[in-house]
Amino acid sequence: MTGGPPELQGLLPATAELKERIGWFIRLRWVAVAGVVVFVALGSRFLPVDFHPTPVLSTVALLAAYNGLAFLYYRRLSDPSRHSSPHAESTDQRFPPLAQWLLPRALRGMAYDPEVVRAVYFVNVQMVVDLTFLAALLHFTGGIENPLRMFFLFHVIIAGILLSRRATYSYATVALGLMAAVALGEMLGWISHYSLNAHWRAGGYLDPHLALTQLFLLGTTLYITAYMGSSIGARLRHKELDVFLLGRALEEKAQHLESAIQQVQAAERAKSQYMRKVAHELRGPLGTVQTALAVVLKDLPEGLSRTSLDLIRRAERRAGELAEMTRELLALSRARDGKALSEATLLQPLVVVDRVLEEARPRTMEAGLSLSLDLPPSMSQMRGDAEGLTDLLSNLLGNAIRYTPRGGKIGFTMREEDGKLLVEVADTGIGIEEKALGRIFDEFYRSEAARANTADGSGLGLAIVKAVVEQHGGTIDVESEVGRGTRFRVSIPMARNG
Ligand code: ADP
Repeated sequence: MTGGPPELQGLLPATAELKERIGWFIRLRWVAVAGVVVFVALGSRFLPVDFHPTPVLSTVALLAAYNGLAFLYYRRLSDPSRHSSPHAESTDQRFPPLAQWLLPRALRGMAYDPEVVRAVYFVNVQMVVDLTFLAALLHFTGGIENPLRMFFLFHVIIAGILLSRRATYSYATVALGLMAAVALGEMLGWISHYSLNAHWRAGGYLDPHLALTQLFLLGTTLYITAYMGSSIGARLRHKELDVFLLGRALEEKAQHLESAIQQVQAAERAKSQYMRKVAHELRGPLGTVQTALAVVLKDLPEGLSRTSLDLIRRAERRAGELAEMTRELLALSRARDGKALSEATLLQPLVVVDRVLEEARPRTMEAGLSLSLDLPPSMSQMRGDAEGLTDLLSNLLGNAIRYTPRGGKIGFTMREEDGKLLVEVADTGIGIEEKALGRIFDEFYRSEAARANTADGSGLGLAIVKAVVEQHGGTIDVESEVGRGTRFRVSIPMARNG
């Protein structure tokens, strides 16, 4: 496993874990202090043991005092206002050798962080002091005869999780050494034996076989625990580092994506503004050309050749098409400009529909089509842009008329459902080929079939429809079958009280 990159200093879960879990020692120690006090108070009464309470209680009092100091130091260590900024330290400084030795691999490769050093030294001091306290307590409660010697395991497990593998094995060795020193000291009479007077074999501490067996059992358990604890700890840190790095990479990707989207949106806005400006500029001169041509056509000069007349008529028709296109470009940029909706007012959809139908009806008749309507007698008002919605409906209806051969049918449905305005425009026209379906909402796109059907059309209609739908936070979908017809479905939130 490799260490975390230096720039992640202070951010890695392992660093935070190291600082945070120092609290474990303190909490566990309070539990131990309380446990021993309860044991002394009740143990001799309810358990088959009998021991000298004075040395045990004195040791525990000392332990409590030490824990109080440790708690104060821990508070200082975890006080965010005392933290030095990681950037304040020179980054090429390495961890001191003892810290290097104690730190797990994930943290060793990191840039120097004085907080991590303080934390790891603090863990080290607590380990040594705790092991000593535990050995002393065991000594005063039967020495090698006391089965609670297995409590050494807790420290080895904590070391396995927080510290390097070699440090974990060393603490296992220190624990075994301390227990062996107690056992040997008592056996050889260098230190006195405080009997637990348990119901198990009295005088067992004098039996070298028993002491050796117990030490062997303790040793193997300690080393197996050291192995398991440090392997699990290392694997966990490895996984945590992976997850952490993956999370950061994802975050970076998301940021890139976000800025790319913003760039595209900015480009889209610039394009729309440009489009609007050009359309505006074209409108004036085009109007003049149209008026001039209309005057010429009304008041035709004498002796005008047929060719000239045709040319003037063609020019008038083309000028009309151009004027329509500039009108559509303006409508498109208007719908794409978010400001339009902020000016949205309360409107009655049925009024908008009436206006659109007024224009569509004569065109339907002219094209030899039947138009069936399905409209409710009344509807709620909705918040929206009336001009945009007019564009939307007249474009959908206009397309249905344009792409349906004589004798065909057009159905127009509008209703209100769950606070949404639902509009459906269906026709029995030429339909849209599968490959064109994905492009019909692109600006200036006209399918081959549409071109073959009619020269009339700019390819802007559905782009306007989509822009208006999006501007109102709605959705649009289309179903079509070549030769059978097309159905557009629009759903727009009415946001009645908005
Ligand atoms: P156009 O000016 O070509 O009608 P639109 O943007 O309104 O431009 O439509 C884009 C394309 O979608 C059309 O060229 C046509 O191929 C297809 N289309 C739209 N509405 C219909 C319809 N009702 N029936 C068949 N094709 C349609």
